[in-house]
Amino acid sequence: MDKRDYYEVLGVSKTASQDEIKSAFRKLAKKYHPDVSKEENAAEKFKEAQEAYAVLSDENKRKQYDQFGHAAFTNSQGGFSGYEGFDFGSMDDILSEVLKNFGFHTGGGYSNSRGNRRQDGSDLLYRMTISFDEAVHGTKRDIKVDVEDECSECDGKGGFGSHTCPECKGSGTVSRQQASLFGSFISRTTCPTCGGTGTSFDKTCTKCHGSGREVKNKTLTVTIPKGVDTGNRIRLAGKGEAGTNGGYPGDLYIEFSVKDDEFFQRDGNDIYAVIPLTITEAVLGCKKMVPTIHGNVELTIPEGTKNNTRLRLKGKGIDSDINNKKGDMYVITNVIIPSKLNRKQKELFKELDDTDLDGDSEFKDYEKILKKY
Ligand SMILES: [Zn+2]
Ligand SMILES: [Zn+2]
Repeated sequence: MDKRDYYEVLGVSKTASQDEIKSAFRKLAKKYHPDVSKEENAAEKFKEAQEAYAVLSDENKRKQYDQFGHAAFTNSQGGFSGYEGFDFGSMDDILSEVLKNFGFHTGGGYSNSRGNRRQDGSDLLYRMTISFDEAVHGTKRDIKVDVEDECSECDGKGGFGSHTCPECKGSGTVSRQQASLFGSFISRTTCPTCGGTGTSFDKTCTKCHGSGREVKNKTLTVTIPKGVDTGNRIRLAGKGEAGTNGGYPGDLYIEFSVKDDEFFQRDGNDIYAVIPLTITEAVLGCKKMVPTIHGNVELTIPEGTKNNTRLRLKGKGIDSDINNKKGDMYVITNVIIPSKLNRKQKELFKELDDTDLDGDSEFKDYEKILKKY
């Protein structure tokens, strides 16, 4: 792809003054800054304008460019070598002004040099196992998370007694003589002493070894909403990793895993439980105390209730904050055939047996089957 002429990129004449060049770049930066622009290809257009400005705002580079065009900044492999080495320090003022106008925190100046690039913190995921009861009713839980944050010793600066870097004199870049097809020219690279920040310290912070970052074990109180289920996630905005150089912090996600309960089973917001009934309770019907997640309630077992019958307790399921719905509870009957009978019980069952207990249709159907085979 052919590179566009730098004057064309900025929309200024070949004889434009430094003020005209600066003002043209300011306009383009406002329009295409990737943090604020909604224009198509904003990042590329911004980069193009930045590059054009880096050259034309520097009298020496501008002269080289006027004489040799883009070739002045092309390396022997034909690639463009100058960009990374350009001094973007002089752009800081313009860019932080642009960002401030949009209400961004620039954290002491936006810069493209490697040392103090603005970067948002990462999101973190924390997996939490909770009991069935905690999931059903919601609770608060303190958790400890390891979060990378600004160093507390140096407030994220990396050292103490900051002064202008002696090697690059604060520009963040150092000059180097470089040979090209068109003779030698000065190229600039990131300053190795300060890593491009333009400042160095009397004393490097011993806690973070100059990185300005520290892993902190933080305690956070998490509010667990009622009705949370395995796999559900909640987001704690801004509780993730800290940003760098004024970047926004990431978010902390908490993913739940809910332990099974020994009595209750769950299906969405509905609760299921199996309760045992004696033969007489099932046959004669009764009032039965049944545990629910909201406490014990009395359930009417109708006369002639069969095994595996599903009885509903309306509204006795989970009252969920997750989907704002209230579930029901279902009681499943388990009619127990007694395995041990005392003498009295045996007599009573024998007496029962002498009565006509096979009046139900199932027994008549069975008679027919017997005759058939
Ligand atoms: Zn330096
Ligand atoms: Zn530190």
